This record gives sequence, C-alpha cells and structure tokens, in this order.
Amino acid sequence: MKKNVEFGIKKQLITKEEIQKRLKELGTQITEDFKNESEPLIVIGLLKGSIVFMADLIREIRLPLEIDFIEASSYGEGTQSSREVKILKDLRSTISGKNVLVVEDIIDSGFTLKKVLQLLGSRNPKKVSLCTLLDKPERREVEVDVQYVGFEIPNEFVVGYGLDFNENYRNLEYVGIAEPSVFE
Ligand code: 5GP
Ligand code: MG
Ligand code: MG
Repeated sequence: MKKNVEFGIKKQLITKEEIQKRLKELGTQITEDFKNESEPLIVIGLLKGSIVFMADLIREIRLPLEIDFIEASSYGEGTQSSREVKILKDLRSTISGKNVLVVEDIIDSGFTLKKVLQLLGSRNPKKVSLCTLLDKPERREVEVDVQYVGFEIPNEFVVGYGLDFNENYRNLEYVGIAEPSVFE
C-alpha cells in the first residue's frame, strides 16, 4: 500500500491558501446574493467530488441553509466522460419553491451538470444556481449556466480537495496534477 497521500503528484495547481482565500470571496458573494430571499436556501452537493469544497463553502455562507446530496455518475474508472449520466442517489428533500445552490467540484464537458440541472429544474424550485470549484471551459461540449466559479483551469486532469483518480487523492488539501505514470 502507498503510504504517502502525495504519491504521484507532479505539482500543485491551486494551493491550500489560494483555495481558502477564494472560498471567503465566494461565501461573501453568495451571502450577498441570497440575503434578501425569503425562501429557504438548500445547498446540494454532487457526490462525491464536491464534499470537501462544500464543507468549507457552507461555513463561509452567513445565512440559514439546509444541505442535501445527489449522486450522478458519468465517469467510470478512467478519465474520459462516457456521456451517459445516471442518477445513483437522489435527494432526500423536496425542493419545490426553494432556492437551490448546486455545488460541484469541476465542470468539464458539462454533461453531468446538464442532466442534474434538468432533473432539479423539473421539480419546481424557485431558483437554481450553480457553484463550481473548478471550471475547464476549453472542454465544454454542452452549455451550462454557472453563477459562481472558484477557478478556471487549463485542460489537465486534476486531483485533490475532493477530486479523485480511482478514488485516491480526495483528501489532499490542494488541487494538484498527477504524474502521467499514475494513469498507466
Ligand atoms: P463532465 O460531465 O462535466 O464532463 O464531468 C463531470 C465530472 O467528471 C466531474 O464532476 C468530475 O467528477 C469528473 N472530472 C472531470 N474533469 C476532471 C478532472 O480533471 N479531475 C477529476 N478528478 N475529475 C474530473
Ligand atoms: Mg463531480
Ligand atoms: Mg471521480
């Protein structure tokens, strides 16, 4: 067993400090945007990649809120989108009439979010907004309306701060790039 969590990491793309600073900015912006809303705010994390980001983000939102999770799968064990999006775990809560903030780790082709947003939109929420930690705009294949972006990144496969490769690296405190040998 590999004992070092950083095994195979080539470089840090976004440091822990940069993430912390950006989280505060996003939290302030979201708080501003929702503070005059009378309807409840429900923050929905897309499992599993969003959990680290979401845990930190909700503590920077200075408003009452509820959380829930949805799990969709578009990637198998590799790094290419299969384009087939399945809902593996649905929400526990009802979102009708509520303000929904979907939290995602990364938007790549956009297929996963498009499907999830369609599903949520069909349940009559008051408003659906989207916050992603990372965005790879170069890779977009379907249009997705995103209100809050942590960082735009180049077209490289990243891991850490919730993002995995074969379920590894989610517990890195930063976003990094793995060595090519990791993918072999
Ligand atoms: P999309 O449907 O936008 O192509 O991809 C959605 C999902 O693919 C993301 O939520 C994420 O789980 C995974 N993904 C896309 N790009 C990356 C990446 O660079 N690194 C990791 N670890 N996962 C990615
Ligand atoms: Mg994801
Ligand atoms: Mg993954």
